[in-house]
Amino acid sequence: MEIREVAGRGSLVDGRSHVVIVGGGFAGVAVARGLANSEVRVTIVDQHNFHTFLPLLYQVATAGLEPADVAYPIRTIFGHAPNVGFRHGRVRRVEHGANVVVLDDGSRLAYDHLVVATGATAAFFAIPGASQYAMPLYSLADARRLRNKLLLALEGADARADLDPQALTFVVVGGGPTGVETAGALSELISISLRRDGLRLEPSLVRVVLVDLADRLLTAFPESASRYAAKELRSLGVEVEFGRSVVEVEERAIRFADGERLETAAVIWAAGVTAKGTLAHELSVVAGPGGRAQVGRDLRCVNCDNIWAVGDAAAVPLSDDEICPQLAPVAIQSGRHCADQILHAVRAEPLEPFVYRNKGIMATIGRRAAVAKLPRGGVIRGTLGWLAWLGLHLFYLVGFRNRLRVMINWTWRYFDWPSGPRLIVADAETAE
Ligand SMILES: Cc1cc2nc3c(=O)[nH]c(=O)nc-3n(C[C@H](O)[C@H](O)[C@H](O)COP(=O)(O)OP(=O)(O)OC[C@H]3O[C@@H](n4cnc5c(N)ncnc54)[C@H](O)[C@@H]3O)c2cc1C
Repeated sequence: MEIREVAGRGSLVDGRSHVVIVGGGFAGVAVARGLANSEVRVTIVDQHNFHTFLPLLYQVATAGLEPADVAYPIRTIFGHAPNVGFRHGRVRRVEHGANVVVLDDGSRLAYDHLVVATGATAAFFAIPGASQYAMPLYSLADARRLRNKLLLALEGADARADLDPQALTFVVVGGGPTGVETAGALSELISISLRRDGLRLEPSLVRVVLVDLADRLLTAFPESASRYAAKELRSLGVEVEFGRSVVEVEERAIRFADGERLETAAVIWAAGVTAKGTLAHELSVVAGPGGRAQVGRDLRCVNCDNIWAVGDAAAVPLSDDEICPQLAPVAIQSGRHCADQILHAVRAEPLEPFVYRNKGIMATIGRRAAVAKLPRGGVIRGTLGWLAWLGLHLFYLVGFRNRLRVMINWTWRYFDWPSGPRLIVADAETAE
């Protein structure tokens, strides 16, 4: 479908309302799915030409999965929907008065309805050196960079056969699901590399340290789940340290508030997310907590009648005084609801408020260990939790081929057969 770029109202192009969705993550894709084959014209704009399944990024970073296993071309998702088009590019700003978004290359895209689904980004809390030297995990490029860094560190230590403890100390900052999952998978990567790849490293010199400011892991889960996660991680060889406040990250070290300076091969940053610095925050509508766009219960931005925000980019109301967490089910449900409301608006029908249906939360700790908090508060853990985690992630992964590949990969890993894409795919000069 040809997308003509004109200034002014998008509907002037062919009489249909034009919905521009910025972001092809869980939320943006859910909006577009809800509008596919309807009477509106849709353009998804994303800086990547693929949708990324963020919950499995840590497996790409720790060489469990390939990048292509967790990404899917946005054009292919909507190949069957003639009213949905894709535009590859980064939206730089929104011109409200003109109903136009401006892309990095200067091109302008007119809209009747704009959906901001730009997600969030890593929060570094202005800690000196953190944004420069710590490695976040928020995009496929981040995951690939981290994987190269980890594998290069292992190869470097093997090549030098040195006994420098710094060369094999990896620090994960943040004890939420991403930090727990990454630390567990990193420990498994190291153990599999030692057993299967013949690396000449002294296992006792390899350290994976998980630090958190809080006094327990997975604070969104009940305490029993936190204790279980800490026990499982320690059994994998991860050092779990609580009450540790990071004050500075250097190129090869991390410093804590208590004065300790720990030399490291890599600092992996899983300390939280923010919408500050993203398009949602830069929109000149009211900013909500964490830089998220403030939206009403119908998901329209406050004081706007044709700008909507969904997913991580939005402070989606949960109740009168609470907002929804930044999770994939919130993104998917808010995206679906937004699509319905846009159709109501186009048809001049009344809008309905968004109601979040809690599906629970999950975190995996390693092969055969996971915790799941059910919607009513109960906890499943161990192999059962892990199987539930596997099933759910396979269900939400986009594309049958990706599901099949991931399932084969996980089965392989489950039986501990030698496998895994432990490839350093980087320029030899820059390691990028
Ligand atoms: C490592 C990690 C693990 C996670 N694990 C879980 C989990 O286990 N369970 C769970 O429920 N949630 C998990 N989450 C959270 C979940 O992934 C997010 O809540 C969800 O991805 C939000 O969806 P979204 O569509 O709002 O944003 P995103 O999925 O982040 O998508 C945003 C999209 O917008 C695009 N974009 C951004 N800015 C621009 C711009 N200016 N112009 C064009 N395009 C732009 C991006 O390229 C991206 O494609 C995890 C998140 C991370 C980072």
